[in-house]
Amino acid sequence: MKNWGSQSLIVVKYLKDGRTGGKMALMNTRLLSNCKACVAFKRWITERKSDKSKEKPSSLTEELENHNECPLDTRQLGIATWSLLHSMAAYFPENPTEIEREEIACMFHIIAKYYPCNICAKDFQEDIKAMPPETESGEKLSQWLCKLHNKVNKKLGKPMFDCSRVIERWKDGWKDGSCD
Ligand SMILES: Cc1cc2nc3c(=O)[nH]c(=O)nc-3n(C[C@H](O)[C@H](O)[C@H](O)COP(=O)(O)OP(=O)(O)OC[C@H]3O[C@@H](n4cnc5c(N)ncnc54)[C@H](O)[C@@H]3O)c2cc1C
Repeated sequence: MKNWGSQSLIVVKYLKDGRTGGKMALMNTRLLSNCKACVAFKRWITERKSDKSKEKPSSLTEELENHNECPLDTRQLGIATWSLLHSMAAYFPENPTEIEREEIACMFHIIAKYYPCNICAKDFQEDIKAMPPETESGEKLSQWLCKLHNKVNKKLGKPMFDCSRVIERWKDGWKDGSCD
């Protein structure tokens, strides 16, 4: 455990395998208790602490070892990107400062500019121009991103997502408890 200013941070280094070398994970312990996005890390810590996990690879260790180390195709890149963007929107403050609002809007513009799939990037830039990021609150941002994602879904012939359930999908978990 290391103290960085007033925030208590756990710094953990683990070796995945010989080829990829070490990976560093930094998590703010204050956020862990109430943050689903941090749960796998918490599970990993718990598993590392148990003697049993030292004898036989844990399910999470297996997951890490089996992780595909190849370049992403459009689909994989899309799923990973949407996951990050929706999670960021879901965790965006309800009452953001002016700076936070500017930063998050800027991030969307930069992603649209540098998104590695050229055709996707071009459409994304046009979509953002027509529908600029709505950064007044976390709720607004999530709704805006949901609409934007639905535009892409429509273009690709995929089903529309029900935007009234976007916080369930990306932050709280489904109301039926299936994510608990
Ligand atoms: C900015 C961007 C532009 C893209 N443009 C293209 C393109 O032009 N051509 C192309 O072939 N691919 C494009 N992609 C990839 C494409 O959108 C999908 O990611 C990919 O086809 C995989 O689709 P999927 O059905 O597995 O789920 P995804 O569409 O990746 O969605 C992931 C998960 O998000 C949830 N979800 C779905 N819709 C919404 C929504 N509206 N709001 C909130 N959550 C939702 C669902 O639970 C879903 O399982 C783009 C991706 C991004 C990030």
